[in-house]
Amino acid sequence: MDLPSTPLDELPQRLAVLRAQAERGPRSYAERREDLYDLRAALKINLPELCRAMDADFGCRSRHESLISDGMTVLSEIDHLISHLKRWMRPQRRWISPLFWPGRAEVRFQALGVVGVISPWNYPVNLALVPLATALAAGNAVYLKPSEHTPRTSLALRDLLRSIFPRNRVETALGGADVAAAFAGLPFDHLFFTGSTAVGRKVMAAAAPNLTPVTLELGGKSPVIIAPGYPLQRAAERIASGKFINGGQTCIAPDYLLVPEAEVEPLVTALQAQARARYPDIALGPDYTRIINRAQYERLRDWREEARSRGARVLPLIEVEDELADTQRLIPPTLVLDAPDDCRLMQEEIFGPLLPIIPYAKFEDALQYVKQRDRPLALYLFDHDRGRVEHLLEHTIAGSVAINDTVLQFAQNSLPFGGVGPSGMGSYHGEAGFRTFSKEKPVFRQARWSGMSLFKPPYRGLADRLVRFLTR
Ligand code: NAD
Repeated sequence: MDLPSTPLDELPQRLAVLRAQAERGPRSYAERREDLYDLRAALKINLPELCRAMDADFGCRSRHESLISDGMTVLSEIDHLISHLKRWMRPQRRWISPLFWPGRAEVRFQALGVVGVISPWNYPVNLALVPLATALAAGNAVYLKPSEHTPRTSLALRDLLRSIFPRNRVETALGGADVAAAFAGLPFDHLFFTGSTAVGRKVMAAAAPNLTPVTLELGGKSPVIIAPGYPLQRAAERIASGKFINGGQTCIAPDYLLVPEAEVEPLVTALQAQARARYPDIALGPDYTRIINRAQYERLRDWREEARSRGARVLPLIEVEDELADTQRLIPPTLVLDAPDDCRLMQEEIFGPLLPIIPYAKFEDALQYVKQRDRPLALYLFDHDRGRVEHLLEHTIAGSVAINDTVLQFAQNSLPFGGVGPSGMGSYHGEAGFRTFSKEKPVFRQARWSGMSLFKPPYRGLADRLVRFLTR
């Protein structure tokens, strides 16, 4: 399906309309809450249609996964914004040094103006609407550019937003990389980008001439370490949930597993049991999501074949006939053992249902393996030893961490979500998002009488004694 494309010269015009409206004055708490209620209601009503659009865009997108990750999680985030917004908007009194008494200090939270949001295809509703809802909660106007790789969902999102918001408050731009590149170059008050690290670099470069602040939610390899002795059935179940959802096309999906040498084979068996129990009829059943498009499918197939040709053991956990797999863009959950370190599977973010397993001799070796690589977007440890958990938390840096599970840190409204280093900068979700999209304006209020009036030339007598005392 071809997605209509917003003409490039329309982009700055639309931004000007949004800005003119934003500059008419701040939006009250009641108005923002109304926006969130409207968005929530429209999302709820349109969920079946959005699920159908995602299903068509992916060529099979599990309806339940759509309801969970693009429905339930977004509704819960909007509810969290509604419940806490009033408190977050309140000016906060801050401590003040006695030197400045009886002056007062406070921080006020103000809308930045117009926020640009660029979203990817893998969770096309969630990753568009959560930043959008949060930016609206902070009182901003929003210009959204959803992904061209989910054309039906992007169109449905545009229609949904037009049905509830005037176009001078929420606008949508549609189109491919050319529109996206021009969009990233618009002088927004903040630009929020979710996507690959490579495109993230371009976005930051495009924002630089305008000094537009950016939040970059990027990708990267998210390792899982299984500590010696951790119950493998439980680990397999939770790894399968995080890796198999959305056909592995999740930014924080487990990218590879570090496993004690002696536990590799039992883990393979446990993961196989998980895959078979979940997808008894993977090609005909409705529960396993396909690879989004041919380019992504061929990339994954090539990486898998490269590893195989270089000596890796490739173990599909469910057998699917080649031709069927190819016509359906279906890659079953697949383990990869003994892959050489310099093959693409081991070097780049996998973003699909291939899962390399790397055996380790000592726990410290596994930790070193992670530390020697880029700081991950997410890091997972399965371990009941508190000391070791603490050691890992102290000695590694990652965008987010889950202990004894995978991906669920994303669903915690009260935790900031964001990467670090090559996996991104800035954060959102809940209050972290509210602050990202607000100017935290510091205000100092001077009193009628001010001790500071003593500090002025000529510095003799009391002024001189005071300065000497305060620099003692
Ligand atoms: P992508 O970077 O190819 O595309 C994301 C968006 O960027 C799309 O809307 C696209 O139109 C736009 N774009 C393309 N070229 C652009 C340019 N020159 N300037 C500005 N925008 C441009 O990513 P994708 O393939 O849609 O998504 C997969 C990647 O996203 C993976 O790396 C994944 O890890 C990452 N991701 C990260 C998160 C997170 O929260 N950190 C969430 C989901 C996906």
